[in-house]
Amino acid sequence: MEELCINLLKKRGVELEDIADCVIFLQKKYVPELNQEIALEEVKMVLRKREVQNAILTGIYLDEMAESTMEEGPLKDALVSDNGLYGIDEVLAYGICNLYGSIALTNYGYIDKVKPLIIGKLNQKTQQCNTFLDDIVGAIAASAASRLAHNR
Ligand code: MG
Repeated sequence: MEELCINLLKKRGVELEDIADCVIFLQKKYVPELNQEIALEEVKMVLRKREVQNAILTGIYLDEMAESTMEEGPLKDALVSDNGLYGIDEVLAYGICNLYGSIALTNYGYIDKVKPLIIGKLNQKTQQCNTFLDDIVGAIAASAASRLAHNR
């Protein structure tokens, strides 16, 4: 399952290293010894959780359906246009962050606002629907940052 999620992320254009870079962006100021190896380790720990895996599967499935066989209608319109008022992509991301406490939630809010690195790239308009993916990536990075904050 973990492997499946890693491959799905890769297929959608996100490497674990990209998420690790977001962790460094969030946490470098507080953990001076932080490097990509340490950040990657925390990202992998987050990806081990079944609930995180379910969020990845669900979100990416909806993104892919919006690009392909989803019937025309308000849901497809919201997903394809990444309508800011849709909001359920953020709710799915909270599902990940809730497993890692308030530091994960506040970090997610921050990174979702600033949209650094891969998150910014995913947000640029492309053929691919990334409505859920950008929030999933932000939530995984924020959760890994929370793990770092608590364990170091
Ligand atoms: Mg989104």
